[in-house]
Amino acid sequence: MAKKKFKTEVSQLLNLLIHSLYSHSEIFLRELISNSSDALDRLKYLTLTDDSLKNLDFTPKIDIRIDGAGENTLVIEDNGIGMNDEDLASSLGTIARSGTKNFMEKLSGDAKKDSNLIGRFGVGFYSCFMVSDSVEVISRKAGEDKAWKWTSDGNSGYSIEETERAGQGTSVILHLNEAGKEYDSQWQVKTVIKKYSDHIAFPIQLHWSETSGEDDKKKTEEKEEQVNAASALWKRPKSELKDEDYNEFYKTISHEGEDPMYRIHVQAEGTLEYTTLFFIPKNAPMDMFQADYKPGVKLYVKRVFITDDDKELLPVYLRFVRGVIDSEDLPLNVSREILQQNKVMAKIREASVKKLLSEFKKISDDEEKYAEFIDQYNRPLKEGMYSDWAHKDDLTELVRYKSTAVDGWTSLAAYKDRMPEDQKAIYYLAGENEEALRKSPLLAAYREKGYEVLIMSDEIDEIVTPMIGPFKEKELKAINRSGALDDLKTDDDKKKEKDAEPVLKKIKNALGEAVKDVVASARLADAPSCLVSDDADPSAQMRQMLQAMGQKDIPEATFILEVNPDHPVVKGLADTSDDDLVKDVAHLLYEQALLVEGVALKDPVAFASRLNRITSRAF
Ligand code: ADP
Repeated sequence: MAKKKFKTEVSQLLNLLIHSLYSHSEIFLRELISNSSDALDRLKYLTLTDDSLKNLDFTPKIDIRIDGAGENTLVIEDNGIGMNDEDLASSLGTIARSGTKNFMEKLSGDAKKDSNLIGRFGVGFYSCFMVSDSVEVISRKAGEDKAWKWTSDGNSGYSIEETERAGQGTSVILHLNEAGKEYDSQWQVKTVIKKYSDHIAFPIQLHWSETSGEDDKKKTEEKEEQVNAASALWKRPKSELKDEDYNEFYKTISHEGEDPMYRIHVQAEGTLEYTTLFFIPKNAPMDMFQADYKPGVKLYVKRVFITDDDKELLPVYLRFVRGVIDSEDLPLNVSREILQQNKVMAKIREASVKKLLSEFKKISDDEEKYAEFIDQYNRPLKEGMYSDWAHKDDLTELVRYKSTAVDGWTSLAAYKDRMPEDQKAIYYLAGENEEALRKSPLLAAYREKGYEVLIMSDEIDEIVTPMIGPFKEKELKAINRSGALDDLKTDDDKKKEKDAEPVLKKIKNALGEAVKDVVASARLADAPSCLVSDDADPSAQMRQMLQAMGQKDIPEATFILEVNPDHPVVKGLADTSDDDLVKDVAHLLYEQALLVEGVALKDPVAFASRLNRITSRAF
């Protein structure tokens, strides 16, 4: 029997578990029962949709046997879908869940920090090594004849060999270690099942034996008891359900280790009959920004599991939502392919989105609580503003921004309420880094006017904000765009601009193609010049993003040079008729503006000669 090594991340995870989660070792039972429940769900679905399995005699159940395979053993058994040799190797030799994989990569090796982090995650099958010296998994896949045994001590690796098993399903046999001894008692096991797995929709049967009588009259009796209610939790009346019931259910379906931030339970009756139970995780799922993220909502039809791998059950931007949708009106054998065109499904989806967004709105009444929500989910909601046009208005009210006027987050509505009467538009500055944005010289002119500016440092702000259109009739304007400043101009400014036209022309002629345009600026106090990008051009950040996305022919950036007509240098330029001097000074105005923006000069030698020619005139 060939021994195989675990993938590196499995060894890492096992190590961590043993060293940091000991005090929570009882969660292994939750993890194994949840795997069994999934396996039963999957087979039930196949018996409805797969012709070769339609006649299978199948009463789903989970059996837990104390000392079921000899002394000091605990057996967790199901008659679910089972695994063949390949499944065993791929499922129990690697970490299947991408979130966990991701998380393992993030771990720093700082045991204390890591154990805090690990508390956030359900750790799956491998948690059983916290209580076992060795583990055997005997499994037979539904529809196949051969059975297989996977064995491991959780250290070096695992081996797989052929074996026998009556009927499809999986038996996990734990050879309990010192820490696992307590699970040799039916009281302890029952308590843990009640605590963590009472909501499981299939019956969990506990088997144990009881010895009574003295010496030669000793009698051993086999006992059996169903430990859970075995009804789908989401179908139970809300009044019967306690917070703990919901929270444990959440942990089972989400693989998270901590309680959710919110839950939303809807039992709809009437023309459309369905139940939805949604949870918002306290922390955004690890894979939220990965293209191969795992969807968090399971679809059931009349309590029968259909799929947990459909990214269309909710819109993509709500991918952080965990939970179940259970419909009474879909056909049981609905294929995953036709789900997307199904009218009933579309209605449930629409109602779910509406409900979720209106619940988020309710949360926003409590600013402090809402800030926690926004810290995690602002960005996906912003994605929704351009991907879900039908709910754009609701989403625009839900997203939050930083601002020059307030600490913490602000909504667009609150911004609008604060606007002075003469302010025409909502102003924002988007870029990479909040701190840098707050120091931008562009803000001065707005500050002076008493106009607030939104500070947007989410990567997607620059793409999304220009697309959302006006908010309650107020245009959103980026202040680093050429057009933005027009709003701030007084009649006086306009006259000054008119007067500056000849000098602007002079500078433009001298610079030629280097700049897109030369305009007079009202926003410069001390500096003679600055650069802005044209409204029609991609900004520096967008340019970087396009590059990262593999776009090659992004035209080189040319900027608009803004000059300050009141500055002595510009005044001097207006008065002189020395063409060489105009050329040098015009270039210096441009080059110093580039330097201030942190852009490297293309021809530093030419810059130095210019600077020296001008400086030498001072003597
Ligand atoms: P997760 O359940 O989050 O995927 P686990 O480490 O608990 O992670 O399990 C890995 C995989 O092993 C599961 O996704 C499933 O494919 C398989 N598996 C585990 N237990 C069972 C079982 N009782 N029956 C069938 N498959 C199982």
